[in-house]
Amino acid sequence: MTVYRIGVLYGDGIGPEITKATVEVLEASANKAGGVEFDWVKLPMGWEGIEKHGDPIPQVTKDELKKTHGWLMGPHDSAAYPAQHQTNRNPSGELRHVFDLYSNIRPAKTMEGVQSVVGEADLVIVRENTEGYYCDRNMVIGVGEWQITPDVVVSAGVFTRKAVERIAHTAFKMAMQRRKKVTIVHKANVIKLGTGLFLKVCREVGEQYPEVAVDDFHIDAMTAHLVRRAYFFDVIVTENMFGDILSDLAGELVGSLGLAPSINTSEDQAMAQAAHGSAPDIAGKNIANPVGLMLSTVMLLDWLANRHEDRRLIEVARTMENGIFQALAEGAKTRDLGGAASTTEFTQAVVERIAR
Ligand code: ATP
Repeated sequence: MTVYRIGVLYGDGIGPEITKATVEVLEASANKAGGVEFDWVKLPMGWEGIEKHGDPIPQVTKDELKKTHGWLMGPHDSAAYPAQHQTNRNPSGELRHVFDLYSNIRPAKTMEGVQSVVGEADLVIVRENTEGYYCDRNMVIGVGEWQITPDVVVSAGVFTRKAVERIAHTAFKMAMQRRKKVTIVHKANVIKLGTGLFLKVCREVGEQYPEVAVDDFHIDAMTAHLVRRAYFFDVIVTENMFGDILSDLAGELVGSLGLAPSINTSEDQAMAQAAHGSAPDIAGKNIANPVGLMLSTVMLLDWLANRHEDRRLIEVARTMENGIFQALAEGAKTRDLGGAASTTEFTQAVVERIAR
């Protein structure tokens, strides 16, 4: 029987709190569903990496992750790292680059018991994760920015047919499993070549999926459409930075950024990672919402089930997801959702629902 080796990178800020909570809930789900074993591989990242190895994403972590089936990535507070680490890719950017995790899937769905400011919504943002305007992802060496003089900087966006084609296929395949609708988000009226290529190639790939309806919006107009009629959207495909911004907005619109999950995948590796950051303003207070990372882990389980053709993992995923949804529907809520539960109290509420 396969024992799934799962990397665990606790990270900075609220990372240790929400990651511990997530592992607890996953273990409870595995015990309840039965038959699946996990081997947790704890690896340094963020401040822990700097303290132990002089690097926020040390080589040992990258080497060990290669031997795992997938991993949980806590958030990092890279803006606070010492100056010598500011010229490198941040830890999640580095892992996306090294493992070519080109696809970042970020769902936003209304949940029972959670106040949405846009009514019903059920959409997925498919974010290209390896190039575009996050210029540090575009380079083998360097961060894709050049300081010409103290007052002049050039930042390079990159768009390639290869990367756009593969993310477009991810989006259209996903739409085929959902409501068969893809919205391409770009800014081709101004950035005519770069996001123009993104739009053109997505449209070309869309022709291979004649059942899927396609439309497109400029990124600025899209923010208004999302607020005005979130229910209208099914799968949204966009470049790296637009996707990052849009998914924070979508997460908050349907309840809280603290609920927003994501998974980063290549053909053969996957990294579960909440859409939010390390939230240093609330770190160490036991008030962070762990749902974003928990639901990201549910996505990882579904991805593993598919990759390893192991239906038992689907049972673990549904057990975990139902426990989270039930706890929210029955009123267990952290402060960002208007509740009073601490991180540990909310986690306990989920574990109790799973054990029922
Ligand atoms: P990054 O650039 O790493 O995504 P950020 O600077 O954009 O990070 P976040 O760390 O995501 O910002 O925090 C944005 C706001 O959302 C903060 O006020 C933070 O407290 C809140 N927040 C983020 N995650 C959570 C969470 N899990 N629970 C509660 N509040 C959260």
